[in-house]
Amino acid sequence: MNSKTDIRALTKEQLRDFFVNNGDKAFRGNQIYEWLWSKSVHNFEDMTNISKSTRQMLDDNFVINNIEVDAMQRSNDGTIKNAIKLHDGKIVESVLIPTESRTTACVSSQVGCSLDCKFCATARLKRMRNLNADEIYDQVVAIDKQSQLYHNRKLTNIVFMGMGEPLMNYNNVIKAIDKITSNEGLGMSAKRITVSTSGVPKLIKKMADDEVRFNLAVSLHSAIDEVRTKIMPFNHRFPLADLREALEYWYSKTKRKITYEYIVWQGINDTKKDVEALVKYCKYVPCKVNLIEYNPIDDGEFQQASRNALNNYISNLEMNDIVVNVRHSRGKDIDAACGQLANKS
Ligand code: SAH
Repeated sequence: MNSKTDIRALTKEQLRDFFVNNGDKAFRGNQIYEWLWSKSVHNFEDMTNISKSTRQMLDDNFVINNIEVDAMQRSNDGTIKNAIKLHDGKIVESVLIPTESRTTACVSSQVGCSLDCKFCATARLKRMRNLNADEIYDQVVAIDKQSQLYHNRKLTNIVFMGMGEPLMNYNNVIKAIDKITSNEGLGMSAKRITVSTSGVPKLIKKMADDEVRFNLAVSLHSAIDEVRTKIMPFNHRFPLADLREALEYWYSKTKRKITYEYIVWQGINDTKKDVEALVKYCKYVPCKVNLIEYNPIDDGEFQQASRNALNNYISNLEMNDIVVNVRHSRGKDIDAACGQLANKS
């Protein structure tokens, strides 16, 4: 293992101090910071307006732990799935999803996942480690490049719906989003970023207190504790009442609607009682519902419910003035769809 410091773990202030302490000007820190973030170089040699001796000094003290696109698969529908190799050889996945009106990056926040949702392929990997802020940022940069190369347009949106539970890696996710939205980074609007969580009440409140400006999506999948605990066992620790309270707090502070992600499975949450529970839950906090198509990860245990069951959800939600969208999967042929990210490639 390399014992040099990851230079991107330093703040701009720390970089400026480093140069002052080494007999140079603080301004040099600004220049390096710009190379590292908004210009995203992966080698000190590429910092062309920096003297050779300074570059050597940086090389003696620091590393840039850049990521590498290890394998790339392109789907018939334009979706691109990347296996991203981290500096320690671990792999995460990031996906580019183009539609007519937007290009979305779906990024990972952890290697594996700390939660245990029964229907999700990533859960089977368990959590190996959190990603650093720069590893999250680099995924966005890599996908933005692909978007420009293959679709002739810049990335428009980012969703934290890849591997991992973003709120279980709170600090690094927030730091990465700060860089993505800052003019010293990519300058993207926070309104175009969505963090998706299985729902960790304490951290949802913290986000509200921290006055984050991005959107929040919650993977609900059931509004009945007994059912939700069966498919998302951590619900036992964070039951729906606690989640509701945290979401009410979020809304009171941010005034931003929540998106609930919801899959309807045969024999699991496809009854009238399930629909009614969801409608009731949706009334607590202003929200909309995305009904997601299920992507099977193994044979049998979970199966997408019938069209009829889906229609029951849609009509009941609409009758109650709750906006509902049906989300079809993208990139299924390359296992890039939700819940299919498990390093199969
Ligand atoms: N841990 C976060 C983000 C990653 S999962 C979260 O739970 O929100 C991103 C989305 O994919 C979630 O809504 C999740 O419920 C959904 N998902 C997981 N497995 C899936 C599968 N097999 N088919 C369709 N969606 C799935």
